[in-house]
Amino acid sequence: MEIQVKDISKIYGSNESKVIALNHASLTISEGDFISIMGPSGSGKSTLLHIVSGLDQPSMGSVLYGDTDIHNGEDKKLSAFRRQKIGFIFQQFNLLPVLTARENIIMPLLLDKKKVEEEYLQELTSLLGLEKRLSHLPHELSGGQQQRAAIARALIAKPDIIFADEPTGNLDSKSGGEVMRMLCDIRKKMNKTLVIITHDPHIAEMADRRFTIIDGELSEVSAQ
Ligand code: ADP
Ligand code: MG
Repeated sequence: MEIQVKDISKIYGSNESKVIALNHASLTISEGDFISIMGPSGSGKSTLLHIVSGLDQPSMGSVLYGDTDIHNGEDKKLSAFRRQKIGFIFQQFNLLPVLTARENIIMPLLLDKKKVEEEYLQELTSLLGLEKRLSHLPHELSGGQQQRAAIARALIAKPDIIFADEPTGNLDSKSGGEVMRMLCDIRKKMNKTLVIITHDPHIAEMADRRFTIIDGELSEVSAQ
């Protein structure tokens, strides 16, 4: 499914406190794309990803998944659409602290009253090196393991597209490298579209298409 981001802007506040977080950003994401987005802190990266993934509303413009305008419909439908089509990986992992790794991973299925496919869960957790950690609570896991559990959660409903907002930003370089390697492997193996925000030029260069965002203005870095 192709995703068309059409001329979106996001404006916070008004008058003196007005912030233009995104300024007429457009891009088309094709199936299987691996896209990286770099930009300084405060440049609008998270705002863009949140709007493209339906976590937030644009002030102007639209986001189409195929023919579906994701910001134009019932909230309930959008939530279900997001859970089924989109996986989101946050910098801060966002695992629920009182649930085990396994419970966190399968949460999107429970919300949709879907059964757990044990075989797929096992495949995912083994690709992510989590088989022996599933009964642990998040605080009993290392940062890298927590992020890997968050990746499994993002993939459990078999979404077509994965968005990752600085997924290695809270990790040391060794576990960050591991997380990236696994994410890239899974993307290839399972044929997912991946859009990743990063500060790390090495990670940005792994992508097939590279974008930068400065003061809310998005542009594609031409292939060299
Ligand atoms: P990045 O992820 O690139 O660091 P963000 O997308 O988080 O940047 O933020 C872009 C700009 O929008 C920043 O100036 C930020 O302060 C502002 N901003 C983000 N969220 C809000 C909000 N909820 N209310 C007001 N301003 C916000
Ligand atoms: Mg951000």
